[in-house]
Amino acid sequence: MHELSIAASIVESVTESAAAYPGARVKEVRLRVGALASVVEDSLKFCWELATEGSPLAGAALVINILPVILHCDACGVDTEIAGVQSFRCPKCGELAADLRQGRELEIESIELEEPDSVVPDPVEEQV
Ligand SMILES: [Zn+2]
Repeated sequence: MHELSIAASIVESVTESAAAYPGARVKEVRLRVGALASVVEDSLKFCWELATEGSPLAGAALVINILPVILHCDACGVDTEIAGVQSFRCPKCGELAADLRQGRELEIESIELEEPDSVVPDPVEEQV
């Protein structure tokens, strides 16, 4: 279950980043995950719960943005989003395009912190 080690390393780097804001609580962590990063979203969320349990990140939400695979075709000179990863051929001209421009990402996009002594309740504007 490699999602667990991914979750653990995310917890580690978020903890490091949040250390710059003593007392602040991590509310939400957003990830950018490429479709080729072989991460199972549900599994990663489950592992996130395990990895954060009992840590200062307990209760922090994990938001995963899956990025589509984008190929660059030399023949057409364009970047195209491909639906599947079965074939790395340019959907326009059919040329084999091995120039992957997006799809392998696995990175933290943003970390949302809650100030320690904020007495003003957050406006509920971002509830999706
Ligand atoms: Zn092409």
